Amino acid sequence: MTTELGLPALRGGPSRDPDRPDDPRLVDGFGRVATDLRISLTDRCNLRCTYCMPAEGLDWMPRDEQLTDDELNRLIAVAVHRLGVEELRFTGGEPMLRKGLENVLSAASALEPRPDISLTTNGIGLARRAGALAAAGVNRLNVSLDTLRQDRFAEITRRDRLQDVLDGLAAARDAGLNPVKLNSVLLRGVNDDEAADMLEFALEHGYQLRFIEQMPLDAQHGWRRSEMITAGEIMERLEQRFTLAPSDEDRGGAPAEKFLVESRLDGTSISTAGGPAVVGVIASVTRPFCGACDRTRLTADGQMRTCLFATGETDLRAMVRGGATDAEIADTWRDAMWGKKAGHGIDDPGFLQPDRPMSAIGG
Ligand code: SAM
Ligand code: SF4
Repeated sequence: MTTELGLPALRGGPSRDPDRPDDPRLVDGFGRVATDLRISLTDRCNLRCTYCMPAEGLDWMPRDEQLTDDELNRLIAVAVHRLGVEELRFTGGEPMLRKGLENVLSAASALEPRPDISLTTNGIGLARRAGALAAAGVNRLNVSLDTLRQDRFAEITRRDRLQDVLDGLAAARDAGLNPVKLNSVLLRGVNDDEAADMLEFALEHGYQLRFIEQMPLDAQHGWRRSEMITAGEIMERLEQRFTLAPSDEDRGGAPAEKFLVESRLDGTSISTAGGPAVVGVIASVTRPFCGACDRTRLTADGQMRTCLFATGETDLRAMVRGGATDAEIADTWRDAMWGKKAGHGIDDPGFLQPDRPMSAIGG
């Protein structure tokens, strides 16, 4: 018997749940299918965003615990060839700190069927590397930028590098990595008055801006629901300057709710440097989109996670290093995904923040 992917169907390993359908893809018990693999390439970072990690950084993962390029390439190939993964998103920590990044990207882009490849980066060093990233197969970039003010950038990231990021954005656009997406986290009393300015900047330069609600994934466990800026507040701040209308584009499994930027309240017209005038809001906390989630995750040390907020992991590195076959790895991955929870449970009274911070899971 063959599967929808044209591969021989596996009849299940020892731990297989009898209810799991005979499907080669990453289906879960709620009917979702994961086709988007987020891969953390390293837990290290050259910035220290206050909402992500402490000033002194973290105890970085020992090098020998990290997957080698060959190990990582193998797991990615298993995901694409056997599990129906269609999109690869490389992240971290800061993925551009990974030695051999372009080799991993080139190997991924040589896979058949060719996955869609994107990279989430803080933009440091991007000005120099944008062309090489495009040549290695990156289709799109998400660059994090929380403020346009130099002093605030230094306060939020604890590094005075705003200009590097702005130069990197321009280089990415010039290298054809369009649309360049901007990820922005608003922090109360720090940069939450900049929402409309950020949108102005993005429209002017042809970048696609998305605001991300701050999540309880910081290493310091400093997140407070009462402190975070909600999607509703983000919209209020934008609507002080712009008229927005919900986009009727099918959202699919995309985390961002999109809004068309129709006009300015002062009557001046909206013009963009390319593409539609849109803004996205990723309301992971206040308007969770878990029901449409299509993600599976791999940490830099080879642990598969079903969710950013999962409290358990599946050790694929041990399988790779222990001589497991690709078919065995694929089936273990399917089994774990079958058990994916319905939602992140942030609002549940018993919610527990995962042990790993965002920077070590891969945001
Ligand atoms: N270093 C890269 C970067 O900053 O783009 C990639 C990793 S970073 C963890 C990925 C994204 O997660 C960034 O856009 C960052 O702003 C966001 N992020 C980090 N901690 C967060 C938190 N606690 N809540 C919401 N977003 C967070
Ligand atoms: Fe580094 Fe990204 Fe975390 Fe900022 S958000 S400290 S850039 S991993």
